Amino acid sequence: MSARTAIVTGGASGIGAAIGRRLAADGTMVAIFDPDGAEAAAAAIEDAGGKAIGLPVDVTDRAGIDAGVAAVRARLGRPTILVNSAGVSIDGPFLDLTAETWNRLLAVNLTGTFDCCQAVLPDMVEEGWGRIVNISSSSVHSGAARMAGYVAAKSGVVGLTKVLALEFGRHGITVNTIPPGFIDTPMLRRTVQRGFVDVDQQTARTPVGRIGRPEDVAATCAFLVSEAAGYITGQVIGVNGGRNT
Ligand code: NAP
Repeated sequence: MSARTAIVTGGASGIGAAIGRRLAADGTMVAIFDPDGAEAAAAAIEDAGGKAIGLPVDVTDRAGIDAGVAAVRARLGRPTILVNSAGVSIDGPFLDLTAETWNRLLAVNLTGTFDCCQAVLPDMVEEGWGRIVNISSSSVHSGAARMAGYVAAKSGVVGLTKVLALEFGRHGITVNTIPPGFIDTPMLRRTVQRGFVDVDQQTARTPVGRIGRPEDVAATCAFLVSEAAGYITGQVIGVNGGRNT
């Protein structure tokens, strides 16, 4: 089988970067979409012996997404794997949540996922094969105080995942979501710095007794995009050390 092509949004940092590295190590050609740092992330993959390109695509810009997908098609061939990892997290009391912040959280986390899926699915249908993995959040299991916009957006990602699984299963396309919890990334570190999360406290309430690594999520994603996972679709596969079951 010739190498497949994957797009990883938010692939310049954290979980997305680990997924890009892992898919490339498994022999997939990888396109990183991220407004900042995409080229550097791709260069790191190439230095490690993989095939990757980086494009400064912002998932809130549909025209930019379409142009990015066209560039991937031209340079790496049809994308048949899409991992939506781009995300922003903004916390604060519900009554202080402005329309601007609410709209930003939905635009990146939910509408960005919708637009990337819609931009890439026609290539997958044409190929008769595809894999989509949407990175949601363990907060969709538990809720999270002071995170109404984020949790609402990520809950929407779970719903969208289930709908796409139903609509595209007949085309050989699977669509699943990984809701990670407590993974050591720049996003989590920023919430620690703001005093919103305490690492020791959170480690104590995590059954496996440690913080998650981006590679833990990447390993699950690598399986979900593999040939072997063709009978798994519409599923919510938690990677959270047992914090949510
Ligand atoms: P991260 O290190 O901040 O990575 C997220 C990446 O997405 C960053 O490179 C970010 O760029 C990029 N991004 C933001 N807005 C974008 C846009 N409009 N278009 C394209 N890329 C954009 O955070 P992470 O922890 O790896 O998060 C990855 C995913 O996991 C997110 O969807 C997040 O919500 C989810 N998640 C993480 C955890 C956790 O414990 N870490 C838990 C639950 C869910 P900038 O840095 O320039 O903003």
